[in-house]
Amino acid sequence: MQDLSQVKAQYVKGVGPRRSELLSALGIQSVIDLLQHYPRRYEDRRQIRRIAQLETGREETIQGKVLAIGTTRVSRTLTIVQAAVSDGSGTVYATWFNQPYMQSRFKNGQELILTGKVQRRGQMEILSPEFEILSGQSDDLLHTGRIVPLYPLSEHLTQRTMRRIIHACCENYAESVPELLEAALRRECDLCRISDALRNIHFPESPAALEQARRRLVFDEFLPMQLAILLKRKQLAEIPGSSKKGGELVRRFLESLPFTLTRAQERVIAEVRADMERTRPMNRLLQGDVGSGKTVVAVVALLIALDAGYQGVLMAPTEILAEQHWRTLRALLSPMGITPSLLIGEMSATEKAAVRGAVRSDEPLIVVGTHALIQEEVEFSRLGIVIVDEQHKFGVSQRAHLKAKGENPDCMVMTATPIPRTLALTLYGDLDISVLDEMPPGRGTVTTRWVLPEKIGDAYAFIRSEALKGRQAYIVYPLIDESEKLPLGAASTMAEQLKTRQFCDLSVGLIHGRMIREEREGVMSTFRAGLIQVLVATSVIEVGLDVPNACVMLVEHAERFGLSQLHQMRGRIGRGREHSYFLFSGQPGAEEGRRRLEALCATNDGFQIAEMDLELRGPGEFFSGRQHGGPDLRLANLFKDEGLLKLARETAARIAVEDRMLKMESHRGLRELLMKKYRGKFFLGVTG
Ligand code: ADP
Ligand code: MG
Repeated sequence: MQDLSQVKAQYVKGVGPRRSELLSALGIQSVIDLLQHYPRRYEDRRQIRRIAQLETGREETIQGKVLAIGTTRVSRTLTIVQAAVSDGSGTVYATWFNQPYMQSRFKNGQELILTGKVQRRGQMEILSPEFEILSGQSDDLLHTGRIVPLYPLSEHLTQRTMRRIIHACCENYAESVPELLEAALRRECDLCRISDALRNIHFPESPAALEQARRRLVFDEFLPMQLAILLKRKQLAEIPGSSKKGGELVRRFLESLPFTLTRAQERVIAEVRADMERTRPMNRLLQGDVGSGKTVVAVVALLIALDAGYQGVLMAPTEILAEQHWRTLRALLSPMGITPSLLIGEMSATEKAAVRGAVRSDEPLIVVGTHALIQEEVEFSRLGIVIVDEQHKFGVSQRAHLKAKGENPDCMVMTATPIPRTLALTLYGDLDISVLDEMPPGRGTVTTRWVLPEKIGDAYAFIRSEALKGRQAYIVYPLIDESEKLPLGAASTMAEQLKTRQFCDLSVGLIHGRMIREEREGVMSTFRAGLIQVLVATSVIEVGLDVPNACVMLVEHAERFGLSQLHQMRGRIGRGREHSYFLFSGQPGAEEGRRRLEALCATNDGFQIAEMDLELRGPGEFFSGRQHGGPDLRLANLFKDEGLLKLARETAARIAVEDRMLKMESHRGLRELLMKKYRGKFFLGVTG
């Protein structure tokens, strides 16, 4: 069978060299690309109205004969073409502005179908209608009198052209698209043939046919991904690792904690212990909202490795966060006489060399550092566990890269962005999942308020009054320096202004990601000591900082931040027993931005926020940074299609059990697809 991804779109009827360039602006090169250029929406133009019954203001479809056609040159810049069309019950005028060539498109007596919004300007009119000239053959009815597809377009391409091209493509090629699912499976899952699905997604005969087409195509987006994940999971389960049992260190650590573990922490720690005791390597995702106490779990995992004579690493996405983790670990581990090592870019060459040397020796130790450094510069002699604090950056390849350094170490990924279940299945289906769904007791509550930009003075006044009561505050800006393009207050400019005006009697500090480490450390320790009352910052404070006395945060230009990011920032306050206030100001302008900010006020639950974020911004944001293996979802919607995702997952599981190397003839198509999509990436199971 001919490989349609190799057949150039140019050779489809009606395309040619010029249009093929317009198509490539849409990323369309091949016949397959054309078939997968799905409509962005549809219009149901099946109902043909009698002209006498037309209602103004509504989108209607009529059929009638051209009685007359004429062009009026109203002015030098305005030409109007009008056709009078009658169906016996009445007459309506089709009107086109500045499209003089329309005059020659129609002839008197021609039968037309018109669709468009009906207006009354003295006479009944339809402005710039979609039209179709009837030639007596029913397959001419592409643009109206049916459920009509509307496509994403590029410049110089019209809906009519696109429809014709794709229609020709369906006629000539849809039937030749290889069918990956055998008939028995399709019957069982209630899925139509791929060829029918492709035809019906473009030119559905009925809403039911459209639904059926979508069902099949969404399933086809999920299945290969789920299969790849499951096969990889099976493969991981067979990798030999080492069994590690916690001992003395773990016991002493748990005893040394000044608080009792939450039930969620107990449960997750038990899961991690069981995992590490098994000989196959742990592959676990730890989800927990900001402040749920993930660090303690991470430390237990590191100590289990240490107890068993291994080395452990904790990787963080930024230097500031790495430092913060290191500081926390140092404090937590000091009762056991253990000092973790730090590895970040700003350390001197000698300092780094010392850490690298220690790691190369057999000595059991803990290293905390940034992803980049640990991956590039360190050779572990006995790496037993890798903990990745990814926050919401999912670096799958990074995980793989580092793991290759040890002899199949255990691996745990921590994320503070609770990932909606559907996404967790798609993104992290190859991992076991633990959830910290309970907050430690004794946290203050956080009130969230949206401050209109013109009321910002009130927010400053509130911060003043809290500072005078002995509390501390953060004020966050999206930029470090003022930019000419973006009229946003920037942290450094605003710090100056606040220092000399609104907060001239308070101590104001500044922190941002471009400061050198000593400077930053200085500011942080001054803030921790309570000597800075108002800390002006960029989003570097998003993660990791833990200053219980900081009870107010004001984020300006909040519309510039993602919802989950704002929620992360909010996690910096409410850490002590005092009541905390999260204030943000933003331009309520754009609809999407407004909904995001409203959502933030509505809930403090990270799971709900993540779901809203996903719904409002789409999975693109979630997948950014996940260089490999991000699913290619064109039609599928992770919210609406959860049922189909489940079906695909179950089907994948069955296939994986039945034929894990995909050697059966009936799985050949799937196998080829997987090879093409995932080879050398995160799917390693099936080889050529
Ligand atoms: P996360 O990393 O999940 O955002 P942390 O591990 O930084 O949260 O914990 C947040 C704060 O809660 C820390 O100050 C930590 O010491 C404290 N904490 C953790 N577990 C408990 C607990 N069970 N009881 C009381 N406080 C806890
Ligand atoms: Mg943390």
